[in-house]
Amino acid sequence: MAQHQRQVACSIPVHPPAPPANVPLDVAVITRAAPTTGFLRILFLDKSTARTTVRKLKLVLCLSLVSAALSVGLCQPSLGQGDADLEAPGLAPFPTTLARGATLFQNVRIFDGKSAALSAPSNVLVKGNVIERISVDPITFETNANVHIIAANGRVLMPGLIDAHWHAFMAATPQMLLMTADSSYLHLLAARQAEATLMRGFTTVRDLGGPVFGLKRAIDEGIMLGPRIYPSGAFISQTSGHGDFRFLFEVPRTLGGPLSHSEVEGVAAIADSPDEVRLRAREQLRNGATQIKLMAGGGVASPHNPIESTQFTEAEIRAAVEAADNWGTYVTVHAYTPRAIRQAVAAGVKCIEHGQLIDEPTAKLLADKGIWWSLQPLLDDEDVPALSAESRKKALEVFAGTDNAYQLAKKHKVKTAFGTDVLFDARIASRQGAILAKMVRWYTPAEALKTATADNGELMALSGFIDPYPGKLGVVEEGALADLLLVDGNPLENIKLIEDPDEHFLVIMKDGTIYKNTVPK
Ligand SMILES: [Zn+2]
Repeated sequence: MAQHQRQVACSIPVHPPAPPANVPLDVAVITRAAPTTGFLRILFLDKSTARTTVRKLKLVLCLSLVSAALSVGLCQPSLGQGDADLEAPGLAPFPTTLARGATLFQNVRIFDGKSAALSAPSNVLVKGNVIERISVDPITFETNANVHIIAANGRVLMPGLIDAHWHAFMAATPQMLLMTADSSYLHLLAARQAEATLMRGFTTVRDLGGPVFGLKRAIDEGIMLGPRIYPSGAFISQTSGHGDFRFLFEVPRTLGGPLSHSEVEGVAAIADSPDEVRLRAREQLRNGATQIKLMAGGGVASPHNPIESTQFTEAEIRAAVEAADNWGTYVTVHAYTPRAIRQAVAAGVKCIEHGQLIDEPTAKLLADKGIWWSLQPLLDDEDVPALSAESRKKALEVFAGTDNAYQLAKKHKVKTAFGTDVLFDARIASRQGAILAKMVRWYTPAEALKTATADNGELMALSGFIDPYPGKLGVVEEGALADLLLVDGNPLENIKLIEDPDEHFLVIMKDGTIYKNTVPK
């Protein structure tokens, strides 16, 4: 993970860049990036004497290498990735990274993300960041091998959970704070929430709007703790659309004039023509978006658009679809009504967010075209945030459609993803697993867990060649990425176990690294 990132960041070494002035050597090869020390191990090859020298250099030197390489056009424009110096005084490396290596789960019953039943008692070997072997027979290894053994005593091993509709920047922070507080403070809050998200057993989130590129990078580098993030960057909205959070006095905008606050912060991007949508989509892709999120219809929390409204034109949405498609990825849209959904489908989007007000022919259309439906179990219950009277009225319309939406999704076998879309409320964010457990209103526990594991994993892979975490997510099978939970109890019998991850998730592993282990010794 971190290692991989850093090697990509300094992808100069296979070519011979000009070495720094004080290094009289011909070729520099970065052989290994130390994830927790901030040092790069650089192998210098001296052609004239055929000597090789291994030196540990502070990144300061790496940066001078990078700039030298840039001057001869050899380096990717990922300048500065991996430039955090974790050896700064007083900052110890995260102990969790020490647990990396090989881990053997002995005597587990597996929920593999797909099946309706648990496996026979099995053993699972994780090596590096992948599941290397699953066997009902004992797995042996050399006695001196560095393998961390977890005696699971018949407990259940399952894939890490995936939330397909999350907002890492906004889930737990009140809306008014988001609109007024210093942004550095808001990013720190988001980082705290990212750690809490991982500790709830959500090892991956698809982030559907908000400035999370820096957070994602810090997590991937091992600087902060959190889930894998598939970021959208800013959600793209038309003027007066669901992503237009400007104050009334900020309109009319002057073409070419300064951006509004939420645009500067990277929460929203306002666009009002195919050309503007294309530009804004490309900006997100440039910054690392793994998919593009458009607001294609009215929303609950936004003040200036009726829920019935259809947003953007087909040509505008298609501009984003083309930009995403050229990058190997896709567009997903916020849309509730049949009209908004149909326009987006006609424009080529591959995923619909929400859709609670859908009708049967439109649900069938999604099934026929193989379009993903990212649904949330939104109900008028304890997980409704404080809303204005106007928003509350719109929310009740959406809640009333939720039952029908899940029934239609099941009836027509639409590819259905699970997401929570928690906004502005730390208490509700803490119930991420409890929101998943509500799905038994429509599904068996195994089916509900499948949407949040194997099915969501399939949706993540839709990011194609720009997928930042290539490999299989959401399943327990040989070769898959090692995102695993060890559960005390059987969630297929009692899904309520996932409501209390502190108590019932004894091991949380992401990318082969153990972040929590409370298995009694
Ligand atoms: Zn959302």
